[in-house]
Amino acid sequence: MTCIGVSGKIYPQFSVEKFFAIVCVKSYTFALITLGDEENLSYHLCQTLTEDSLGCLFFCPLMSNDRIIKDVNLLDGSLLKKADLLIRDGVVAEIAPHISAPGASVIEGHGALVVPGLVDVHVHFREPGFPEKETIHTGSLAAARGGYTAVCAMPNLNPAPDSPETLALEQALIDRDAVVDVFPYASITRERAGREVVDMAALKARCIAFSDDGSGIQEAAVMREAMTLAAREDCLVVAHCEDLSQPDPARMEWMQIARDLELAAETRCRYHVCHISTRRSVELIREAKRRGVRVTCETAPHYLTLCEADIQDEGRFKMNPPIHSADDREALIEGLRDGTVDVIATDHAPHTAEEKSRGFAHSLNGIVGLETAFPVLYTKLVETGRISLGRLIEAMSTAPRRIFRIGGGLGVGEQADLVLIDLQESFTIQSREFLSKGHATPFEGWTVRGRVTKTFKNGKLIWEIPTIQ
Ligand SMILES: [Zn+2]
Repeated sequence: MTCIGVSGKIYPQFSVEKFFAIVCVKSYTFALITLGDEENLSYHLCQTLTEDSLGCLFFCPLMSNDRIIKDVNLLDGSLLKKADLLIRDGVVAEIAPHISAPGASVIEGHGALVVPGLVDVHVHFREPGFPEKETIHTGSLAAARGGYTAVCAMPNLNPAPDSPETLALEQALIDRDAVVDVFPYASITRERAGREVVDMAALKARCIAFSDDGSGIQEAAVMREAMTLAAREDCLVVAHCEDLSQPDPARMEWMQIARDLELAAETRCRYHVCHISTRRSVELIREAKRRGVRVTCETAPHYLTLCEADIQDEGRFKMNPPIHSADDREALIEGLRDGTVDVIATDHAPHTAEEKSRGFAHSLNGIVGLETAFPVLYTKLVETGRISLGRLIEAMSTAPRRIFRIGGGLGVGEQADLVLIDLQESFTIQSREFLSKGHATPFEGWTVRGRVTKTFKNGKLIWEIPTIQ
């Protein structure tokens, strides 16, 4: 039995991504066998092969499954460096100034910046439970359009993912519908009710981390129990901090952060704070890091780019925590600069148009963020010189990968989860173009730069900006 050739492109109409081998069984008998796992397709091809089509096959140039992404810019320290990337079997096989590989398909980068796929550790994909707001499919399409190749999905769902059974239900939807990596959170407490801590040992292999996002855990004793268990099981506790006994939203946030930092110090648990929005929160976390508490935190694009003065009487400015003063915003930017703020996550929280149409006072909390985060932050923070491009990519990709132990990055041997970004051309944010079901954004109509032009997952193109006819 002799292998005549290997190709992923024998029958282009099948758009086969896997490798197939043409095998000469006897002198005039041929068969196709898969080297992948798509057995049904292989069987089908075997059935349809005739001597005529085989004749054609011999005269077809056998193409490899390699892809070259040509003419992109890599960030090397603070410099942009021109490069080509060779993708083989979904992995970055080579990065060099000029690559040629016979048979490889070529994707033009047109001088775009290439960065490792962005990671959003705080999204609401609303399934199971609320598919009218978002589904795992529409949410992950929005992620791909925004340059994200991995997201962590929050557990305020119905049913809440608080048991192996309910997590399996969510995972089945993810397996069926997601176009990027979607890592589910499990809740910290049963039904996210803030009372009974879940069985972390039984759930930790099925979830990325534990969170009751949407509400703070009011009882210190419950949080202490959760953190003690998390420390023992080496799990990450991700906290939405909101102390309902406090008189105003700023104190609600930082008072509970202050409580949790003491508990994290006491239990030695890995503790990550969601969407911090106030100066005091930054200061408390900075100080806790200094004394060795295992704390990390995130903020969101809207807290870094907006302040109270920007709020209009519209649902698209309504979220929890709310946007605070310009002084709070400046403290968050400073925290991002000095590393106190580790991660930027969007808190992508879609609702229906009706739920966001009731003005500022009565609309539901939550805005979408996946499709605007990079260009908004690039334009408002990098182009203005507030933070470096490297720091932005660290906060949106490298740091979340490290803290949430997702792994990956841009390098030879790494999975080809990549994003191409055009830093030159400006464009206007228009929510009607969003792939998310949610359209409420405070950035509507902003003119920005840093548009995602292509997103690759395992070397496969999952988003490409439509070409203007
Ligand atoms: Zn939250």
